[in-house]
Amino acid sequence: MKEIYTIEDLRAWRAGGPEREIRLGAVGDPVAHSLSPAMQNAALQALGIDARDAAFQVRAPELAEAMAAFRALGFLGLNVTVPHKVAALRLVDEVDQLAAKIGAINTIAFRDGRSIGSNTDAPGFSRAVREVFGRALGEMRVLIMGAGGAGRAIAFQCRRECCPEILIGNRSSERAKTLADELKAKALPWDEMSRNAREVDLVVNATPLGLGAADVSPIVTPEYLSGRYVFDIVYGAHETALVKQAKAHGARATDGRAMLLHQGALAFAQWFGLEPPLEVMRAALRS
Ligand code: NAP
Repeated sequence: MKEIYTIEDLRAWRAGGPEREIRLGAVGDPVAHSLSPAMQNAALQALGIDARDAAFQVRAPELAEAMAAFRALGFLGLNVTVPHKVAALRLVDEVDQLAAKIGAINTIAFRDGRSIGSNTDAPGFSRAVREVFGRALGEMRVLIMGAGGAGRAIAFQCRRECCPEILIGNRSSERAKTLADELKAKALPWDEMSRNAREVDLVVNATPLGLGAADVSPIVTPEYLSGRYVFDIVYGAHETALVKQAKAHGARATDGRAMLLHQGALAFAQWFGLEPPLEVMRAALRS
């Protein structure tokens, strides 16, 4: 059994390839770091569902062909990750209201010959905040660093839950301003963003900074993190620079595993209409 499949594998399967028990996939580029298949496979096994989830390394120009192949092969669902969340939205038959507003999907369910896109990053983030910090997202003043797909999902969720303050910083200022305008939130210049950490309860990293072991934290005034909640949505084999920095300066900090867990559990519920085995999925992320 391969670890990572490609468009060539999908083409071969269309011609009658062997690995037909794979009915779910995590689709991204890169995708090697994703813990999603391990987590979903643990859930499938726990509930005795005869299907398997696998990672698919699909480049941007291959996405439309891959989507057609998944559908033709009778896949049940997909998790969509970087960099395909926006492009995938245009390739599905239906999109739910929240995902349409966010402009990105991370979950696809194939049902009755139709593909339905949704965004479970947004509610998944909120559930993770509640679980890890014991606080309701809607009570918190929030600084979001990053206005890409994940930053948009988190910002829309903050607005849905009526957070008293939403501040958005992004490397390219135009993107921060566009999102802030959509949500009646406040855009911050990237190089001034750090100082605003002391004005909020929750600081969120929604950029990929931290994926690489040598990456620096987006926060340049770490002393302002003292007493804050810090949620780095990035996760990897090592502790991210932001989580390290936040802990060293007296913040409560977490990486992105709890968000991965909850967005994945919500996706599982959509695919199967079943209660996901959350503890089994959590344990799979630890091992
Ligand atoms: P995306 O749509 O590609 O957006 C990337 C964002 O990060 C943009 O705002 C971009 O700013 C910014 N950025 C990229 N490189 C940067 C750098 N070197 N310095 C400063 N800012 C930088 O990606 P995404 O889907 O939002 O995902 C962002 C990260 O979150 C990824 O690492 C992804 O793995 C992670 N994630 C985790 C979960 C989870 O469940 N834990 C869920 C979703 C995403 P510009 O606009 O200036 O390019």
